[in-house]
Amino acid sequence: MTASRLPALFIGHGSPMNTLEVNRYTMAWRELGATLPRPRAVLAISAHWFVPMTAVTAMARPRTIHDFFGFPAELFAFDYPAPGSPEVAAEVAEVAGPTWVGLDADSWGLDHGTWSVLAHLFPEADVPVVQLSVHAGEPLAYHVDLGRRLAPLRERGVLVVASGNVVHNLRLLDPSQVDAGADWAERFDGAVRQVMGSAPASIGELERHADYRLAAPTPDHFLPLAYLAGLADAAGQVARTAVTGCALGSLSMTSFVLEGDGAG
Ligand code: ZN
Repeated sequence: MTASRLPALFIGHGSPMNTLEVNRYTMAWRELGATLPRPRAVLAISAHWFVPMTAVTAMARPRTIHDFFGFPAELFAFDYPAPGSPEVAAEVAEVAGPTWVGLDADSWGLDHGTWSVLAHLFPEADVPVVQLSVHAGEPLAYHVDLGRRLAPLRERGVLVVASGNVVHNLRLLDPSQVDAGADWAERFDGAVRQVMGSAPASIGELERHADYRLAAPTPDHFLPLAYLAGLADAAGQVARTAVTGCALGSLSMTSFVLEGDGAG
């Protein structure tokens, strides 16, 4: 009997308001969620836990963190009460070795990079969730390598959901371009789709792309994609583009899927 392998995802999450909104991206996440086998747990890798260490939430009841300001009260009232899983957190730390992963018993929880997406993938909040931080002090190659190490979790019923944005430059937001990107944003997004769809292990080349500095002025939203690249490489897979599009000139909402196999 061979263990079935779960899919793995990278979701371009965009605005926290996507939690509450119905638009073509959130509808695509809903549809994607409906096709997923029910996992034992979700390992979410969020751009918004960007700290100088790799850690995984290990509490039984992670809190819903509202890590933003200037949004409507309705968003601050949103709760995503999924349980945690100290057991899965320990497995994450185990498979990552010798890369060290800290077990976070009480500092973080689930931030909006995680729950804005899971609100649509698993609206019942009934699948246990652990969240991994993105180490702010390590280069891209570290994150690709850690992604490779996490690959066995896919065969243990864990669905990896990396959450960031391929293009994320808040300084250059252009409200006149509601559903489009600047030329450089569209170009970089296209280059990323090309690499993820043909040779994900070559993701490092994108750091040398002429538009990288504009697309990722800080690497927090790009780095979650490195985990999907590492998972793809470990499994000899390429990524399928699940939904694509730029918004507000300098954001890309592109999402990727690594297909699963077996019955899940
Ligand atoms: Zn974000």
